[in-house]
Amino acid sequence: MKVFSEAKRIVVKVGSSSLTYANGRINLRMFERLCHLLADIMNSGRELVLVSSGAIPVGLPKLGLHARPKDMAKKQAASAAGQCELMYMYDRQFAEYHRDVAQILLTRDVVEDPKRKKYVQDTFEELISSGILPIVNENDTIAVEEIDFGDNDTLSAIVASITRADALVILSDIDGLYDGNPSTDPQAALIERVTEIDEHIERIAGGAGTERGTGGMATKIAAARICFANNCSMAIMNSAKMDELYDLLDGKPVGTIFMKEVSE
Ligand code: ADP
Repeated sequence: MKVFSEAKRIVVKVGSSSLTYANGRINLRMFERLCHLLADIMNSGRELVLVSSGAIPVGLPKLGLHARPKDMAKKQAASAAGQCELMYMYDRQFAEYHRDVAQILLTRDVVEDPKRKKYVQDTFEELISSGILPIVNENDTIAVEEIDFGDNDTLSAIVASITRADALVILSDIDGLYDGNPSTDPQAALIERVTEIDEHIERIAGGAGTERGTGGMATKIAAARICFANNCSMAIMNSAKMDELYDLLDGKPVGTIFMKEVSE
């Protein structure tokens, strides 16, 4: 496993709760800061892949909806309508920094078929070597599982494994993994380093998180499991302090770092 300061290829995952306000509207300040940060990190010579949620909230107004519907087909339609708007926004924002982006829609089972996995891998390699930022989302039209649970946490770990990334960074609405659920336990303390996913870690990750995030820590721990199996370091950090990604990549402790014991 590589330490963050040595990570060349990094997958960054951002959730809907970071990109939208509680009323579902896109948080433009966060969106623009994210694009600026990622473009700058690419300029510094690192290779990036972005896994971005946010298609459903962006698509809701197009369907005349104000709140996330319960009906699955409506959610899928909102995702389809929102995805192209979201990509249009990314395309325009990254163009400000002279960076091109590409859309990749995946389902998590892509790793199960070696032929399809190879096609996906080749596409990523071609885009990354051309200096283009691949922006990934779950293909909600044909996969419904992650719409309601996980908000791309697992997908981002699968993308990290497909692209043989050195690190996965999950930008969340919280500083990292706490030793209790901070929304119910004010005494909960941040865990700075996890070297092994054991029963204790699984237990404190608990159940689902916010309605807009939906996965909570449980799906992030599932992502960490996949990363550990693929020798990929992982970090959970707060999207509200996303500039700390520079510190993380400088080797400083930020959020919760998931990394096996290595001589640093
Ligand atoms: P996001 O999509 O921004 O990552 P989630 O709602 O999926 O947001 O996950 C983060 C949420 O998980 C936190 O805001 C918190 O409410 C909840 N949570 C549950 N258990 C824990 C824990 N042990 N440590 C940190 N957060 C936890």
